[in-house]
Parts: sequence; structure tokens; C-alpha cells
Amino acid sequence: DAAIEIRDLVKEYAAQGDAPPKLALKGVSFDVPEGGIFGLLGPNGAGKSTLINIMAGLVMKTSGSIRIWGHDIDRDHRNAKMCIGIVPQEIVFDPFFTPFEVLENQSGMYGVAKHLRRSEELLRAVHLADKRDAYSRSLSGGMKRRLLIAKAMVHSPPILVLDEPTAGVDVELRRQLWELVSELNSEGVTVVLTTHYLEEAEQLCDRIAIIGNGELIANKPTRELVGMA
Ligand code: ADP
Ligand code: ADP
Repeated sequence: DAAIEIRDLVKEYAAQGDAPPKLALKGVSFDVPEGGIFGLLGPNGAGKSTLINIMAGLVMKTSGSIRIWGHDIDRDHRNAKMCIGIVPQEIVFDPFFTPFEVLENQSGMYGVAKHLRRSEELLRAVHLADKRDAYSRSLSGGMKRRLLIAKAMVHSPPILVLDEPTAGVDVELRRQLWELVSELNSEGVTVVLTTHYLEEAEQLCDRIAIIGNGELIANKPTRELVGMA
């Protein structure tokens, strides 16, 4: 079964001031298979963030449908939400909260019962156990990104989506993040990530969809795609 099923997805942003309306997604359809690491590759402005923000419920689609783990995001919003964890591109935390508190707050928002919470386990998984009670503002950029990944996993979703997880990070941290994503995937989490680095998609993903100017250009196993280039 598909982890995510996207059909005829269209997004038109309304005109703003002098800016005309913008057709950011022009009828995109594809499936994300269960169990792999799926890369959504494309240049800036291609529509990657728009697609992810629609899945995350942050942006309203114009038309089309998305099913997450079989749950339609419109008709079965509650279940869809519980099956996906989203790691946004921007780092946003209340600077006075500790990593442990960030995870506990997020668990509360998702209605995770106290005895089912995994804050400690998640901090270990992202190698932040020793920062449990630090102020989040004292964390390095890499630590903050790892905390965001843990935060997306508090409700144990089967799918994790990351928007440009390594944009603007150095080589060393990029390797660390790739390793973390691979670890989560080997524990059974289906991963979707956007990137504009071909190298990142090739190294990490077993399947790559290429999006350009709001349209799907290719969608293939990585080895077939690399063979084409
Ligand atoms: P990517 O993530 O691939 O860089 P985006 O989804 O951010 O692409 O953007 C796709 C297109 O939609 C771009 O032309 C962008 O300028 C436009 N766009 C994105 N967000 C908005 C918005 N809130 N209002 C109007 N246009 C937008
Ligand atoms: P990315 O391409 O990585 O998504 P952008 O710089 O295009 O980053 O977008 C940053 C933010 O600005 C996003 O929240 C996006 O929705 C918004 N945005 C992008 N393009 C436009 C636009 N033309 N009008 C309004 N908001 C936009």
C-alpha cells in the first residue's frame, strides 16, 4: 500500500497587491511507497514546500486529494494528522523551553497519554540526552534541527516528512542528519524529504520524484534515475 497518495493536486496562491495569482502546483499525482526514503527533488520555486505545507495542513489546497496512510486529509483529518510527523524548514522554538519540555508540550498537543510519552527515548535517539534540561536557545543549529526531528515523532507516526532538512548546514552536520534519517527509516518509519541537492537525494533516497515549475517531471527508483543522467 502507498504511505501517501497524492492525486491531481492543484494549488493556486491568490493575487497579492501587484503580484498576479501563482499556480504553484499544476495537477500533481504520485504515490509514496511504504517503508522507504522518498526524495522530492527540484529547484527553488518548484513547489516542494507548497506540497509539504498542504500535507501539514498549513496551506489549503485548491483541488485534488491526499491520503495519508489511507486517511483522506479532508474527510479523515484526525487520523491523517496522527499518521504523519512534519519537520519544518525553519527552526522555531520558544527559547526558554528545554528540549524535554518541548517534547512534553508537543506530546500534550497530540494527546499522547503520560504513560505513552517517549520524550526521554526520543532525546536519546537524536543524541540529545545530555541536553535534556538545557535552554533551547543554548543549543547549536545542528542540535536544534535534531530536536525538531524528535518533536515531529512524539506521536509515533509511521511517516516522517522533512522540508529541506540540510539546507544551509555544513558537510559534517549533513552527514549526521543523513545518518539519523537512515536510522529512523531502518526502524520502520517511511521518510519523505525535499531537497534541491541531487547528491543528497542520490545518497539517501531509494526513490526520487523530480518536480519543476509545479509539475511532476519524473518519479523513479534512484538507480534508474541516476542511470539516465
Ligand atoms: P520550493 O519549496 O520548491 O522552493 P515553493 O512551494 O516555496 O517552492 O514555491 C512555489 C511557487 O509558489 C514559487 O513561485 C513561490 O514564489 C510561490 N509561493 C510560495 N508561497 C507563496 C505564497 N504564500 N503566496 C504566493 N506565492 C507563493
Ligand atoms: P522555499 O523556496 O525554500 O520554500 P521561500 O523563500 O520560497 O522558501 O519561501 C519562504 C516563505 O515565504 C514560505 O513560507 C513561502 O510560503 C513564502 N513565500 C514564498 N514565495 C512567496 C510569494 N511570492 N508571496 C508570498 N509568500 C511567499
